[in-house]
Amino acid sequence: MTKLKGIMLNICSTCHMHCKHCSNIHTLRDRKLMDIAIAEKCINEMDALGLETITLVGGEPFEEFEHLRIICEAAYNKGKKIRIITNGFWAYDINDGEEKLSMLPGVSDIVLSSDLYHLEFVSESTVRNAVNICKKKNISISIHAVCANKEDAKKVKEIYKDLGKYILINTGAPMPIGAAKDLDIERFKLRDRINRFSKYCSIGNIYVDINGNVYGCCNASLAVDDFLFNGNLLEKSPKEVFGMVDKDAKFQYLQKNGPRGLKNVLAANENRELFFDKEYTCECDACVDISKSMKYKDL
Ligand code: SF4
Ligand code: SF4
Repeated sequence: MTKLKGIMLNICSTCHMHCKHCSNIHTLRDRKLMDIAIAEKCINEMDALGLETITLVGGEPFEEFEHLRIICEAAYNKGKKIRIITNGFWAYDINDGEEKLSMLPGVSDIVLSSDLYHLEFVSESTVRNAVNICKKKNISISIHAVCANKEDAKKVKEIYKDLGKYILINTGAPMPIGAAKDLDIERFKLRDRINRFSKYCSIGNIYVDINGNVYGCCNASLAVDDFLFNGNLLEKSPKEVFGMVDKDAKFQYLQKNGPRGLKNVLAANENRELFFDKEYTCECDACVDISKSMKYKDL
């Protein structure tokens, strides 16, 4: 079995914010929850997959708090570590925030989504409260900021300059999907950047969407076709679905070569010049677009 990096569950679609870059903007009001049976199937399979940490995302997971608590408890009872990606709104009042976090067993890591878009809805002081609560509770904490250009990234780093001395503040460009489709995002021409593409990406951090569809990475779920799609956990057993990564030539190639390997993928294609002239927002944007129409079997 291919060594995987982790597993990420989208446990709910709910969020009452309305960020200008939200990839899920069209489903936030559905209030859909992942079936607990799907979450349990994933958690129960983690030992066989050799995985220690489960990541929970939404929507905003803390907006469906009881659902989040049940899933945390199931993972904790199996001895798993839990990472939650959240906008941090629950820390508006520091005492309430601390109490909330105390109700979630097994949380070892919080990633706070905070950038110029999130800051319109969740204030800097609330984010700082969340950082302080995590520090007090010995929970690892970092900030992830989605930025449309280098200027925005600089602004976010400036806002959190003092925190940046002791926590990771990570910035990245959005995929041009959902609400981000309408944003003015800095793009690069593929031919100017492809030689500097990274060797590593988040492929192998398997993503399970709210309906139990399983993908080789989180951005693959945003593609319009079946790129890195492994099957549905309500239709097939976890063994069959997770085992698909061994048979998926695209997964195997990208896991080994990362986005840097896209150069060789294009070299073998007669339409490569068309792709080299295209503009993308990030490596994943290029990867999804190129991979949709390329064959990986013979590489
Ligand atoms: S907080 Fe997250 S889920 Fe909610 S609107 Fe913003 S980006 Fe979307
Ligand atoms: S570069 Fe491709 S395979 Fe890697 S995380 Fe991005 S979309 Fe997934």
